[in-house]
Order: sequence, then structure tokens, then C-alpha cells
Amino acid sequence: MPELRFSTLGFWTMPALLAIVAATCAAQAPTPVPVSDQETELGQAVYKQLRDKGEIIESSPLYDSLKPVAEAIGRVAQPSYPHPFKFFLVHERQPNAFATPGGNVYVVDSLLYFVKNREELAGTLCHEVSHTLHRDGVTLMVKEQKIQEREVAAAILLGPTRAHLIAIALIGKLHQLGYSRDAESKADVTGSDICAQAGFNPWGLTWLFQDFKSADANQIPQLLSDHPADGTRIRTLEKHFRENPSTFSGFNSDSQSATAFSVPKDAPEVFLRPDTKANK
Ligand SMILES: [Zn+2]
Repeated sequence: MPELRFSTLGFWTMPALLAIVAATCAAQAPTPVPVSDQETELGQAVYKQLRDKGEIIESSPLYDSLKPVAEAIGRVAQPSYPHPFKFFLVHERQPNAFATPGGNVYVVDSLLYFVKNREELAGTLCHEVSHTLHRDGVTLMVKEQKIQEREVAAAILLGPTRAHLIAIALIGKLHQLGYSRDAESKADVTGSDICAQAGFNPWGLTWLFQDFKSADANQIPQLLSDHPADGTRIRTLEKHFRENPSTFSGFNSDSQSATAFSVPKDAPEVFLRPDTKANK
């Protein structure tokens, strides 16, 4: 449809204008506005799966702690992604965070208790958002789809939608070792750019990596215990910081400079019920 510039419309009355618009539309093949796309569809499938398992936290004072950090990061990343970023708290056994295609980012409640400061949380969220910007989840999905097509071709014939099957595969993978080492380092680097732009000290992610070296093995969040070669990732980030002094030289590498991050102890959590329709 041709672009309408109202300054050039002059004397046209609204009914005449609408008639012209209608005629213009009718003269062309209609271009339906997509209500969904593959990324959104996949993200929705994972969302529904988490909701049906009763893992998504609908309300909790923990959101008050998460929101200011998540929203600042979302604002910086949003112009680079066509779907809205949304951050959900979920309850799972291990501290973790993961992003799905479509813009949803899931933060396990216990991660808020695990991080030692605001910068470590911000670094984790920036990293996850970067996986979404890089379409790492979609790449993983395509890989999974090929496996699924071979292994469960029968199940597809029997009824489950492909999106549902993919979602099962994807969420399993997102909780395990999924992304390549290269994808992880790239998400770290883009994440550090996003964090810096959002005003969070990008050294936070390296502090988190350092913390794991001294942490009890059972305490190590899966998102990082599964992510290989933390030392390499730290070195890659340090190199990126050195090479871009205009962005990073103003940030203090010393974790003593970190901003305290406190969450209410034993915060109550209300879970989203499986019959809730909205993807808030
Ligand atoms: Zn990652």
C-alpha cells in the first residue's frame, strides 16, 4: 500500500480518503499481517509447557528485585529484536536462566539468591538476551528438528504439533549443554556491550565465573556448569574490554566495587495456573 502523507491530502474529506484507501487496498493482493512467526510460535510453545508444569511465577516480591535490572537491559536490547522482551521468574531446582526465541527470558528464582551483586545478575540477563539476538535458540531448534524428524517421525503422524515437539526438545536442550562454545563467547561479548550500554558494570559476568571456581559443585548453576571453559570466556571478555576502551575503561574490574543486590528471604510466590491464557 502506498504511504499516506497527510500533509499532502489537502481538501480530501475523510470518506473520500477512506474510499481511496479501500480502492488502493483492493487493487493489490492483500498482504496479511503475520500474527505469529516461527520464533514467536516456538517461544509460546515453551511458555505453555513451563506454565502447564506450574513453574512460572505469576507474582512475587522477587519481581520487584528483578524488574529494574531486567527492564534496563530490555530497553537497550529491544531495538535490535522484533519481538518484545519479557522476563519471567520460574521455580526450578537449580539456579539458572535461559532465553527462548520470541523474546521470553526465564530467570529461576534461586538465581536471585545465588548472585552476589546486581552486576552478576545483569551479566547473566545480558548474556541470555544476546542468545536471543543471535538466534542461537533458533539454530538449536533447527538442529533439534532434524533429530526429531528422524527419531519421532511416528509421533508427528500421531498428532502432537511440530511446534510442541520442538518445544520439548528445545527446553530440554536449553537446560543442558546446548550452545556451542563459540555461541557462548559471542553471547558474553554482546552481553557485555548491552550491559555497558544499560549502565551495568560488564565485569559482573566475569565475577560470576570466578565465583564458581570456589563454589560447591552442587551449588553451581547449571547455566554455567554446563557452559564450557569459563577461563576462556573470561579471557575473551577481558580482550574485548581492552580493545574497546571507550566503552569499557570506565568500569571497575574489582568486584569490591559491586552494587549490593538484596532479595527478600523466603519471598512468597504465586504460580501461573495452567488455564491462564495470557502470555503476559
Ligand atoms: Zn549461554
